[in-house]
Amino acid sequence: MEKYLSQLNEAQLAPTIQKDGPMIVIAGAGSGKTRVLTYRIAYLMSQGVDSFNILALTFTNKAAKEMKGRIADIVGDGEAKNLWMGTFHSVFAKILRFEGHHLGFPSNFTIYDTQDSQKLLGSIIKEMGLDKDIYKTKQVYNRISSYKNNLVTVKAYLKNSELKEADIAARRPRMGEIYQNYVDRCFKAGAMDFDDLLLRTNELLTRFPNVLAQYQNKFRYILVDEYQDTNHSQYLIVRALSDRFQNICVVGDDAQSIYAFRGANINNILNFQKDYDDVNVYRLEQNYRSTKNIVGAANSVIEHNKTKLDKIVWTANTEGEKVKVNRLMTDGDEGRFVASSIFENKMQHQLPNSDFAVLYRTNSQSRAIEDALRKRDVPYRIYGGLSFYQRKEIKDVTAYLRLILNPADEEALKRVINYPARGIGQTTVDRLVVAANGFGRTIFEVLQNIDKIDININNGTKNKLKDFVTLIDSFQVMNQTANAFELTEHVTKSTGLIREVNKEGTPEGQVRLDNVEELLNAIKDFVEGQIELADAGDSLAEFLEDVALATDLDADKGNPDHVALMTIHMAKGLEFSYVYIVGMEEDLFPSAMSMNTRSELEEERRLFYVALTRAEKQAYLTYTLSRYRWGKLIDAEPSRFIEEIDDQFVEVLTPINEPRQNPMLSADIFGDIEPSQIRFKKPIKRKKEAKPAKFVAPKNLKPVSKSSNTNDNTNLFDDKLAVGNFVEHARFGKGEVLKIEGKGPDVKAEINFEVGGVKKLLLRFAKLDVL
Ligand code: ATP
Ligand code: MG
Repeated sequence: MEKYLSQLNEAQLAPTIQKDGPMIVIAGAGSGKTRVLTYRIAYLMSQGVDSFNILALTFTNKAAKEMKGRIADIVGDGEAKNLWMGTFHSVFAKILRFEGHHLGFPSNFTIYDTQDSQKLLGSIIKEMGLDKDIYKTKQVYNRISSYKNNLVTVKAYLKNSELKEADIAARRPRMGEIYQNYVDRCFKAGAMDFDDLLLRTNELLTRFPNVLAQYQNKFRYILVDEYQDTNHSQYLIVRALSDRFQNICVVGDDAQSIYAFRGANINNILNFQKDYDDVNVYRLEQNYRSTKNIVGAANSVIEHNKTKLDKIVWTANTEGEKVKVNRLMTDGDEGRFVASSIFENKMQHQLPNSDFAVLYRTNSQSRAIEDALRKRDVPYRIYGGLSFYQRKEIKDVTAYLRLILNPADEEALKRVINYPARGIGQTTVDRLVVAANGFGRTIFEVLQNIDKIDININNGTKNKLKDFVTLIDSFQVMNQTANAFELTEHVTKSTGLIREVNKEGTPEGQVRLDNVEELLNAIKDFVEGQIELADAGDSLAEFLEDVALATDLDADKGNPDHVALMTIHMAKGLEFSYVYIVGMEEDLFPSAMSMNTRSELEEERRLFYVALTRAEKQAYLTYTLSRYRWGKLIDAEPSRFIEEIDDQFVEVLTPINEPRQNPMLSADIFGDIEPSQIRFKKPIKRKKEAKPAKFVAPKNLKPVSKSSNTNDNTNLFDDKLAVGNFVEHARFGKGEVLKIEGKGPDVKAEINFEVGGVKKLLLRFAKLDVL
């Protein structure tokens, strides 16, 4: 252990070896917070703390896995295995398997993923006869998710006039009923959604003091990484569990809080000292990750936030290159620049692809980057698309498995009752749902009693339904003796599913078939791993739990040496030698949706801080003069965040083939030329007025905004826009102006948009067309 402790600096050592009591480590990016947590766990074990008594909560399962691996290096494999480590969701799903029965859930409850939840909400909205254009499933889902994360149960909702009024204002007066129906249906299906995993854990710990005492006693040492991004529900769980022994260590950086939009509460970090007695507060100041230029740039950006804890971050690392800013004509050019630059750096410095990451604000930006990387044969992987386990063919197989374990699982049943096709139509399914709701039973129970009940289904179809029940029954019998792999293989063959996925014999079909095979391999690995652990127990249930909570960041498939493409949100906690942050444009980053209030804008700035601080050696920022968004070519302006970086840390790259002066050259400016062949002008001193000249769009392309190139929309709207006007916003679509308030640069308008309902926009930033 001594050897390992010597790998920490003094400031890091102190929290690592404070064995007992509450403590918080607040420190900037790259200062070793995660390293402290890791070493601290190893240290506790070296001091005789039983690994069963340690709980570590991380932001991704991948982070937990890496941490466990590192700890195993220090203390040995055997001991590290017993640590409880993972995301909030995965850890508490496990606890709910043991304890869910207190709340009326079976131990084999299903976890509904976002897709399942939204499907269920979709059918509830339909059954209630509501307008699906007003009650949009996604919005309804988000709304319910936010109630749950704030511990607003249905009962609490019905008593909360503020929430109800907000829903009425958004023209959704029946949210309460939907919420109630949704909760009832999940309960009846023996299913929990993602938010339930936290909400129900809270319910468990509050309503059952014995259970709470048992877990307080078990988790005597609790550690939480990325504490700044915990939501209220997570906060309460940590509080309750640590209340008895108060051996709680949280680490975080208020400047990296980027999930407020999903309910994360930065106050959790700010108030930690008030929540426990005698808290030791540790600060780490030395950044080990990045060069001086990157650390300097990041510090100068975050300075612009008003709400922040004062922190110092410095580094003893080399000066390094300045942060390079490049302006491109279009997103295609941007993609080509990034691909060429990666290629060039790779060759010049002999680096693997995995040293590079391209980060963006929204997933849709990946396409242009992908195209360019593909043309250059640079292997890449996009993180954040559909997880492997969410692909249709995989969900079809796992739906059978879910149904075998938990026949009450409504979404699984609906998915496979007629897949592969067995002549059971949608009308029949609808009638089954109505009957199940009427009897207060599950659909499977209705099926089991189909001959005894009065239901408008003909005998032919009834026989098919009975065959389906027999099929599932037979799988359940097999599950008593066979392992998960044998069972799954049997299911895919005997249902005809394996034939179905590739019945057309197309390349796409082949990919689906390969995926199913990959799933079988994964189950095999899982089963073998379990035998090794002498814990074959309920292998199928555990496997399905992993599947439900897997994100594609967890699954390291394919060529491991690839360039990583991901949103900045996904990149939290990670590090790469070279980082390209693309789309540095107003309305994109900061996002148009996040400029209504200072706090939203500050969250965007923190996001930029996170992005910059992922880079070890070099950061590139790119922006374009025009970009296709929502199917239209629009003018773009450089992000204010570029301006906010202190000049001394920045170098502006402007190709000698000035795109503005010679548009003919710009289209393929980096297409066939290596960047090394391009000479760069001397760094341009950036001044406010040195903004790029107005991009003139070709005649046939009409920019969306009338005012996008003038910085000041104020005058335009100050006197022209009026209540009752109809306007169009690139993102929210058409809307009616309900109210105008404020003066000069603070003029705000309340607009009821067709997408997203009523919004208050600062007109200075909102790009609106008056219709
Ligand atoms: P973030 O805020 O981005 O999550 P962090 O504070 O968790 O960052 P770490 O990821 O723990 O920082 O550390 C950043 C990098 O610095 C890692 O590569 C880590 O191994 C390295 N590092 C941390 N402390 C030391 C040290 N004392 N000596 C050498 N390297 C260190
Ligand atoms: Mg970290």
